Amino acid sequence: MTKMKWKVPYVNPHLQFHNLEGKLIAEFKRVMNHGDFILREDVKKFEENMASYLGVRNVIGVNSGTDALYLSIEVLGIRPGDEVITVANSFIATVASIVKRGAKPIFVDICDDFNIDVDKIEEKITNKTKAILPVHLNGRCCRMDKVKNIAKKYRLEIIEDTAQALGAMYHNKKAGSFGTIGCFSSHPLKILSCAGDGGFISTDNDKLAKKLRILRDHGQKTKTDLILFGYNSRLDNLQAAILNIKFQYLNEYIHRRRKIASIYSEKLREFPIILPPEPSEEVFFDSYNSYVIRSKNRNELINHLRSKSIEAFVHIPKPLYKYQKLGLGDISLLKNERICDENLSLPIYPEMNNKQVDYVIDSIHKFFKESN
Ligand SMILES: *Cc1c(COP(=O)(O)O)cnc(C)c1O
Repeated sequence: MTKMKWKVPYVNPHLQFHNLEGKLIAEFKRVMNHGDFILREDVKKFEENMASYLGVRNVIGVNSGTDALYLSIEVLGIRPGDEVITVANSFIATVASIVKRGAKPIFVDICDDFNIDVDKIEEKITNKTKAILPVHLNGRCCRMDKVKNIAKKYRLEIIEDTAQALGAMYHNKKAGSFGTIGCFSSHPLKILSCAGDGGFISTDNDKLAKKLRILRDHGQKTKTDLILFGYNSRLDNLQAAILNIKFQYLNEYIHRRRKIASIYSEKLREFPIILPPEPSEEVFFDSYNSYVIRSKNRNELINHLRSKSIEAFVHIPKPLYKYQKLGLGDISLLKNERICDENLSLPIYPEMNNKQVDYVIDSIHKFFKESN
């Protein structure tokens, strides 16, 4: 075991490796011995595993969640001048994928669950609107029935940014299976992670799936037939082999994340902080990629936790339109800004033990005792 810097790190990829070491090393040897590196059986197997898990017809492995978004926006024919409705409370890649096509992101405010306020989408629709890009943040699915109704009414595409919500469900249907296309990431901070960058795309549309497979691989239909200008956005076969091993534990991982969330929610109730929605199963089934609390004393609280060797984070310090150099315009979304001032992500990962969870809770308890 290598020496750990934090008493409670934000995630622990080292421990995840340690727990699966025998299986992962065997896979590494198998793949290396065969020299199966690019678009081989393991990628295909991962795509099949994931398609059946999500309940969609097609999954296409790509090299990151960012490229999943870029390829999706492109394959849907989003062009300069088009508008795409999304949120500013996200990772930069969500909006970069729109701007890079010359299209314009139109921002909608969020709700207390950190996701798009579906009642404010319709007022933003113009004759330039081509798509809605909801982000399922922190492992919670957006209200997709509402999003789907609006998309149907105005004939818009839906691209789901599902990078943080693998396994999350809304009315028993998986995030990433509602829209035209779903975009996923297997970055180390996400629910199912590989050894570096990786991602995948889900779609029920076979034609789009076929085009996405070509687009991720230089636009080649066959070795002698190029049908469009594409990219090198393939998911590495070795990464797919790693993902196939971890895939066997996906439900267990999500179960443990939800358990930790329920302990947090139970024991943090008495403090002056706003907690994320509790794990429920009926309408929302959250997979807790992150456990994000809100506090008026956010900055003091995070300093306190870090001084106790707890690796807490502020993942979204300001809405994306506030980065002036990005030139996204003079926008102000009140709820989004308040949440950015107050939000703080507590450590949550499957290998985190109950003692560590209690230590985080005790440290928060001490903070409020000392500051009163
Ligand atoms: C992580 C993330 C992405 C990008 O995924 P990468 O695999 O890191 O490129 C996109 N959107 C959201 C909401 C994310 O959290």
